[in-house]
Amino acid sequence: MSTMRSAVFDGEGRIRVARTSRPEPGHGEVRVRLHGCGVCASNLPVWAGRPWFQYPFEPGAPGHEGWGEIDAVGEGIDDWHSGDVVALLSTRAYAEYDIARADALAKLPVTFASRDLPGEPLACAMNIWRRSDIRAGQTVAVVGVGFIGALLVQLATRAGARVIALSRRPFARGVARSCGAVEVLETGDVHAAIGAVNELSPGGCARVIEAAGEQATLDIASGISAEGGRLVIAGYHQDGPRQVDMQQWNWRGLDVINAHERDPAVAARGLREAMDAVEHGRIDPFALITHRFALDRIGDAFQTLSSRPDGFLKAAVLA
Ligand SMILES: [Zn+2]
Repeated sequence: MSTMRSAVFDGEGRIRVARTSRPEPGHGEVRVRLHGCGVCASNLPVWAGRPWFQYPFEPGAPGHEGWGEIDAVGEGIDDWHSGDVVALLSTRAYAEYDIARADALAKLPVTFASRDLPGEPLACAMNIWRRSDIRAGQTVAVVGVGFIGALLVQLATRAGARVIALSRRPFARGVARSCGAVEVLETGDVHAAIGAVNELSPGGCARVIEAAGEQATLDIASGISAEGGRLVIAGYHQDGPRQVDMQQWNWRGLDVINAHERDPAVAARGLREAMDAVEHGRIDPFALITHRFALDRIGDAFQTLSSRPDGFLKAAVLA
């Protein structure tokens, strides 16, 4: 039986790299020899340990930001071939191999086929982008500059919007500027942040993307949304209920969008759009991947993600 190396999450900060069986592609599926997988902040609770999770996790789970080269195709596949370099939407990508459905793949642009290119967070950014309905000339605020926030700053800038970016971390503010933000502000004090944005953009911003997933960033985002504007929630709010100033939302007649997609077909569309955006320079994710770890050091990758040292934006594990 062929084997592979996979990361196995055992709970409470414990990950081991084990020999597990190499999966075989079923009907309508391909197997990808992974080159790497992005390390996603949404996996932090799995790493840290929560009582509602069942450990150990399946080998490779919850890695979902893989890319690599197709090395086997299942029955019923005409469009994909061994050797195609792809980004994939899958669920066990902290490993050397993973399986994906043929409709959950997109080819890497030829010129970037040897680069580190996690597809899923880019797909996520494209889907948030589509629902943000940003047009040239608008003032757009991005509250929270992680990997996704930085991609959205790039997209909005390239589309001709005037971008104000807000972040707690000085390093992230520098990233936002390099991605094209014309104004860069601190989020530290909610009222100060709201005041500063409203000074730069009297009446607020036509589009506001909240991309940090905290009560404070939600408060800032609400406070700087213009009348008739669109407030896009792109952050993951995972640690309990939030409060919002409903009176303010009512009064301003905001369109509030929760921009995470659950429909696999929409996610796959985002993946194809992401590869197109990379190819045509509307997004440049490469400089945003600040840390790389060998698969065997995935524990260090999560340690780094959870402590976010200066200079950290996004990590990938390389298989
Ligand atoms: Zn992710």
